[in-house]
Amino acid sequence: MNPSKPASQSVSPRPQDSPWHALPSERVLETLQTHAEGLSESEARARLARHGPNVLQHVSGESPLKLLWRQVNSPLIWVLLASASLAIALGKLTDGLIVLAVVGLNTLIGFLQEFRAGKAIEALTQMVPENATVLRDGQKRTAPAAELVPGDVVLLASGDKVPADVRLLAARNLQVEEAALTGESLPSEKRMGAVDASAGVGDRTNMAFGGTHVTYGTGTAVVVATGGATELGRISQLLSEAVDLQTPLTKALAVISRYLTYAILVISIILLAVGLLRGYEVAESLLAALTLAVAAIPEGLPAIVTIALAIGVQYMAARRAIIRKLPAVETLGSTTVICSDKTGTLTRNEMTVQALWTPGGAWSLSGVGYSPQGELCREGQPPGPPSEDARESLVAGALCNDASVRSRDGSWELTGDPTEGALLVAAEKAGLKVDELRERHPRVDAIPFESENQFMATLHEGGRDGRFILLKGAPEVVLRRCSLGEGLDTGRVLAEVERLASRGMRVLAMASKPVAASDGCLRFEDVEGGFRLLGLEGMIDPPREEAIDAVKRCHTAGITVKMITGDHAKTAEVIGAQLGILEGGRVVTGAQLAEMDEEQLREVATSSNVFARVAPEHKLRLVRALQKEGHVVAMTGDGVNDAPALKQANIGVAMGITGTAVSKEAADIILTDDNFASIAAAVEGGRRVYDNLIKSLAFVLPTNLGLALILIVGVAFFPIMRLDGEDVPLLAMLPTQLLWINLVATVALALPLAFEAREPDVMNRPPRHPDAPVLSGFVVMRTLLVAVLMCAGATGLFLWEYNAELVRVGHARALAEAQTMAVTTVIMFQIFYLLNCRALRDSIFRIGLFSNPVVYAGIGLLVLLQLGFIYLPFMQAVFDTAPLTLEALGLCALVGAAVVPVIGVEKWWRSRRARRDRDREQEPRGRFGLRIPRRATVG
Ligand code: ATP
Repeated sequence: MNPSKPASQSVSPRPQDSPWHALPSERVLETLQTHAEGLSESEARARLARHGPNVLQHVSGESPLKLLWRQVNSPLIWVLLASASLAIALGKLTDGLIVLAVVGLNTLIGFLQEFRAGKAIEALTQMVPENATVLRDGQKRTAPAAELVPGDVVLLASGDKVPADVRLLAARNLQVEEAALTGESLPSEKRMGAVDASAGVGDRTNMAFGGTHVTYGTGTAVVVATGGATELGRISQLLSEAVDLQTPLTKALAVISRYLTYAILVISIILLAVGLLRGYEVAESLLAALTLAVAAIPEGLPAIVTIALAIGVQYMAARRAIIRKLPAVETLGSTTVICSDKTGTLTRNEMTVQALWTPGGAWSLSGVGYSPQGELCREGQPPGPPSEDARESLVAGALCNDASVRSRDGSWELTGDPTEGALLVAAEKAGLKVDELRERHPRVDAIPFESENQFMATLHEGGRDGRFILLKGAPEVVLRRCSLGEGLDTGRVLAEVERLASRGMRVLAMASKPVAASDGCLRFEDVEGGFRLLGLEGMIDPPREEAIDAVKRCHTAGITVKMITGDHAKTAEVIGAQLGILEGGRVVTGAQLAEMDEEQLREVATSSNVFARVAPEHKLRLVRALQKEGHVVAMTGDGVNDAPALKQANIGVAMGITGTAVSKEAADIILTDDNFASIAAAVEGGRRVYDNLIKSLAFVLPTNLGLALILIVGVAFFPIMRLDGEDVPLLAMLPTQLLWINLVATVALALPLAFEAREPDVMNRPPRHPDAPVLSGFVVMRTLLVAVLMCAGATGLFLWEYNAELVRVGHARALAEAQTMAVTTVIMFQIFYLLNCRALRDSIFRIGLFSNPVVYAGIGLLVLLQLGFIYLPFMQAVFDTAPLTLEALGLCALVGAAVVPVIGVEKWWRSRRARRDRDREQEPRGRFGLRIPRRATVG
């Protein structure tokens, strides 16, 4: 709808002095021309066309201008601008203009790339669609929240985000947290009673507002305003949804860049002094010092980092993990423990009832999934109709149930909780008609299932006394409320539960109790006792094949997988063993956790991998305990009460399909397929992104240092030529040529590294330590090695060429040729070194020579640019270059290629040392941690 136009005006005007909260609910329905069963699908469509989608307009956090200013406002740009001004002031107009042109171009490219990458990341982080449960044509539907219109009747349940401004039609223990609107973080209770017209937003207890969250209970409500007409939309027509593009790594790099810049400025000043001492003119010395600054600062790096992150986020989204908070991309690489829910994440969430037990006997059900195919048999007998007690139990399971299954194209489609869907299918398989049952015994009221209660109860019409309550839930919880009759004791029932659970089944108990017609409300006091146990139903939910595989991959990657489930300990044990998670350990229950002190908890949290009958508050304690033990924890969650644990975890993972809105908002990552395998894929993706960033760093830094060394060596040691009565310092490269390498070549080559595929061993090495410095010993050593090599190669070739040609073609021509050769040698170095950087540890043949075509596109582009640099007259004039012979080109390539064997040897030495360290780690240790030599333990 037109966001600036309130919904009420477009439907039917309501009196100005009677806001929605002051009108009785019937008047609200009447005014909105709707009814309690909701709109028809066609009317909803017509209203959507009239009102427009139920969305708020967003503006991105950082305006383009601000981003552009951030690009310009860096020490580097100021240094470059200063050097350009100085060059112009010294009469070197062309040099000055080139510097300015390159600065302008670089800023523009950096800005465009960062802007695009930022947009891509923002789009992805907001990709998860929001849904709402709505009544259309009298039927419950799940519809995108954006399609809601005024007059729609929506159902609210704990964990939901309220999809629009709504007036309540019914509420049961409904509590809504309205912090998004009022800033009040304590949930406010909602009830039906009319409210004074003058009540403020926080006091309109019969309304719920778009953008707030249901934290408890259920409700039915009619939509009164959507999109920009909602209270939230009115407060801020443009909701600023800034996505923070900073990560620990970008922050660390910013700090490094700052220090690097200061260090370079100090070295530049020293160089200025050296130049002056050696007899350079002031202007020449100043220029050399500024050129050093230009050459040594890695200006392309920020853009490369943002782009690598953007590519990583897109890659992970394609593997079904949506990154909501960018730092998670990096934290994933350090994850040491993944705590995962069982149902739906590690298992398929395709529940099928396979066993039924009543005090009168045991039954089995055949068939799998939500298919009506399958039969009920008394154990050891042919299929047949259920006995009266089996029937009672199945009826209870079907009536005390919020799910619905509809037959569509020969198979059944489930709406609601798969556990409840399985109970409906079981009843149908036994020949019961669920729709008829529901008509015969209409529901009067219900206490919905909540994980912490572990039961659900419903009040129905019918029975001898007028009404009856049905209770279904975890057997221990239901049994506690039952009075068991003759010959039936708790021990016998629990033994049966254990028997079913040891087949890996989730077990639910059903019970009933008659009640006299009451006020129609079901309260917690009503379900405290006096029930008759009807039976147990056991359902299987097999592990996902891909989860078994992913658990294995996590183990080889040094990540421990822990399963946290609300299910019975025995069920958890069986499924844990099938998934390879149990690993001989013991199952710990929530009740046991509750009794432990902090120290015991830390010990158990580390040593046990399967936790059963766990309530959400235990999850929070577990995360904290693991973190205190130094772990980086990823934790999954779907319920409203999982939010604190998701926030506490280093990486909170929410479920895109079954997760509540509250859990999604608390999470760093959302899995669009609810599948554990996607977490493993995200870890892999995170490690890959980090690797690629380090590769870019290991590529860029040596170039900058190499260029600085070339200049320093020149100023400090090269002779000053006396030509035509003037002192002319001999330098291997001109400032503009250095700029060419630093800004054009380095960026063209470093960017493709962000596209590099994962390394073969990415999931075979332990997680990265979160505090490991970005500039590791490896990066520093590599930088020094390559920089020295590059400086030696380029300087050597420069001197050789200059001396060889001086007599033949004279100083000017010899200098131009020698300088062109020095630049070309550095470029060749970079090309060969780039190939080496594609793998940090492995040889490039192992990762596949052609596995990243973008690298070759970058190289191809650079070769073309470099040929232009050497041979195009226009470029020759601008950059003072001279054409080279084929032989000279070959020589540059040969010297550049020297980096390949040198880095090859370095990689070999590094991997040998790593292997030796690993072997040493694995050597058995004696008393006091002393190593026992391997030979001594044999035999
Ligand atoms: P997981 O962690 O494996 O995903 P969970 O924590 O979501 O599982 P719950 O859904 O809280 O587990 O279920 C805990 C127990 O509550 C189950 O073992 C079952 O006995 C019972 N239960 C589950 N769903 C329902 C339901 N819809 N109605 C009544 N009882 C239920």
